[in-house]
Amino acid sequence: MPLTSEPLDRWAWVEIDLNAVRKNTRAIKGLLRRGTRLMCAVKADGYGHGAIECTKAMHSAGADQFAVATVAEGVELRQAGIEWPILMLNQAPETAIDTLVAYDIMPAVFTTEFALAYGERAAAAGKVGRYHMAIDTGMTRIGVLPDDAVEFRRFIDFHRGLSCAGTFTHFATADVIQDWDFKLQAKRFMDTVAALRDAGCDVGLVHCDNTPGTILHPELHNDMCRAGIGLYGLQPAESTAPRISLEPAMSVRTRITRAVNPAVGEGVSYGLNYRVPTPHIQIATIPIGYADGLSRSLSGRMDVLVHGQRARQVGNICMDQCMFAVDTNPARSYHRATPVAEGDLVTIIGEDGDERITADEMAQLRGTINYEVTCNFGMRMEKVYV
Ligand SMILES: *Cc1c(COP(=O)(O)O)cnc(C)c1O
Repeated sequence: MPLTSEPLDRWAWVEIDLNAVRKNTRAIKGLLRRGTRLMCAVKADGYGHGAIECTKAMHSAGADQFAVATVAEGVELRQAGIEWPILMLNQAPETAIDTLVAYDIMPAVFTTEFALAYGERAAAAGKVGRYHMAIDTGMTRIGVLPDDAVEFRRFIDFHRGLSCAGTFTHFATADVIQDWDFKLQAKRFMDTVAALRDAGCDVGLVHCDNTPGTILHPELHNDMCRAGIGLYGLQPAESTAPRISLEPAMSVRTRITRAVNPAVGEGVSYGLNYRVPTPHIQIATIPIGYADGLSRSLSGRMDVLVHGQRARQVGNICMDQCMFAVDTNPARSYHRATPVAEGDLVTIIGEDGDERITADEMAQLRGTINYEVTCNFGMRMEKVYV
């Protein structure tokens, strides 16, 4: 029996609970003082959750601004009719500047060449190019170094096509409690902002806290917080879990396309690394693979949920499909699974009955973080919003 929300053309999909997104957004906004803005990171298609739908849900729950990683991501939001401020968290090639100007996407800025080219193109279009100045306070990724910040602004501020709408930095260790490196980054940032103000520069909105920073470091909320992962209901680290309750918004589901009872000794998938060890093992096939974000490194090490019970995935995960084993041996009084059949619902991430598989469980098995797990599931599967 198909769920009303599932796609008609594929037995593998991503389910997004927009109520959870709204709840998480309200929970994070609720940490801020009145008047402090919330910028929501919806880069990488909303961490795999769908940027357009999530942007609308977050705005309805109190989000003020949005952040993307690429020009195309910003354009996608604009073409969907989203009119709220959008910051691109990086510079772009100069060949993209006209697009930034046309779609009113604010770039992060950290080289004078880019800043002046942006100012030129904005002025040529009869606009003022609003930008946020990025400061590298210690992550060594992007930004103007603190010692160069005032000089940087003196060099570009003559330009009438430019207007500084914000000044920000990004923390490398905001999730670590009482971390000396974090404190150093915070001090460098606040000192740089003070120096810019002393030099008479308009710094615009001052912002630095990401999700862990927003939760653990309210003293650094400044004018705006930039949250990402928490909005999707995932904890950025163990350190934040006791401080805020969040609801995961993504589930990943599939249906069994085939279930068979091979003889003992038969092999499964490329390489035949798994061989049926005992009688009464069902091998079920599901149409999800590494091209859908189910990393091949999980082969033979992950569980799926079926009929509210765990079953072990077996054999190598293929590009578009994989298999799992269900032990239906009637002699087993314990750990015996109900037989499965074509069309049965299988949960890769999410709840089924009393069981649950989280993005954190999968991240741990993969040796990565929950961020990468949800981003990857955004690659190919259709998203359905519930
Ligand atoms: C992705 C990103 C964020 C959001 O980070 P979370 O850890 O997901 O809250 C904030 N700021 C910058 C610059 C980012 O790249």
